[in-house]
Amino acid sequence: MSDINRYHRQMLFQGIGQEGQAHLLSKHVLIVGCGALGSSSAEMLTRAGVGNITIIDRDYVEWTNLQRQHLFTEDDVHQQTPKAIAAASKLKKINSEIDICPVVIDATAENLAFYVQEADIVIDATDNFDTRFLINDLAHKYRKPWVFGACVGSSGMTFTIIPGQTPCLDCLLKVTPMFGATCDAVGVIGPAVQMVVTHQTTEALKLLLEAKHKINSKLIIFDLWNNHYQTIDVSRAKRTNCTSCGQAPTYPHLSYHSRTKTEVLCGRDTVQIRGKQYPLEMLESKLAHYGEVQANPFLVSVDIDEKRLVFFQDGRTFVHGTNSIEDAKKLYYQIVG
Ligand SMILES: [Zn+2]
Repeated sequence: MSDINRYHRQMLFQGIGQEGQAHLLSKHVLIVGCGALGSSSAEMLTRAGVGNITIIDRDYVEWTNLQRQHLFTEDDVHQQTPKAIAAASKLKKINSEIDICPVVIDATAENLAFYVQEADIVIDATDNFDTRFLINDLAHKYRKPWVFGACVGSSGMTFTIIPGQTPCLDCLLKVTPMFGATCDAVGVIGPAVQMVVTHQTTEALKLLLEAKHKINSKLIIFDLWNNHYQTIDVSRAKRTNCTSCGQAPTYPHLSYHSRTKTEVLCGRDTVQIRGKQYPLEMLESKLAHYGEVQANPFLVSVDIDEKRLVFFQDGRTFVHGTNSIEDAKKLYYQIVG
């Protein structure tokens, strides 16, 4: 049952009010990625009463996530719960009055196009530039604002991208050196994540409420450990010949990305194989020959020697413990035949 007191403090806030609150309930946000950035953004927007939240993530919860990724628990680690599912189950307990849709997939040009079209805005909570460029092209193709966010170590950066107005991610990268463009091995602290999320979700609320004059037009960069905060005017970075946001866009990342079949996951010592979809029960019995199988409704996994194989419902397989595509494929085909 709806309790109006839930949003009382937010409705007192001048920027939102009663009308704005009703507006938020009619809006749809797509969050791509449900790690540190995504789980926190999702919680913030769930509590704020955004009516429809779709969360896409390809991964499951592991021990190394708990240090900074909100919503997840040790139980989720033990059960190898997909992050989107684990997050959604907590979010539904926080706010049962909104729709939360978890999607366990690896974002590709094909599958992400549908979700971007459905949403009012997109929040970038990914950990890689391949997916960010995909979001960038789709957001411009379907004219959806999106909020870029990244963090590494104690640093972070965010930027609000509005098709037809601001420079896009591709334009931005031509003028600003971006960290996170390569595999990071320097770790990350929770506060840096929260700082990025704070900026991203505030911008998301402004976009949803069409508070156009309040949108931050600058690139925000900070380093919490070294007490460095900076906002940079990047408006002149927009290029008329940009292939994503220019006058004759070709959206190059949409065709490039769909070709990627097998890849090494950045900084994860893991290879992801996109293969045929097999019924999980079938895989479970095949894997039983190799060792103790762990299964839930979304994936099955087994440890073989120093490697762990995780088969997802959508036909993807993670081979943890290697950066060799050749080794990963050999093991994969040994099992699926
Ligand atoms: Zn551009």
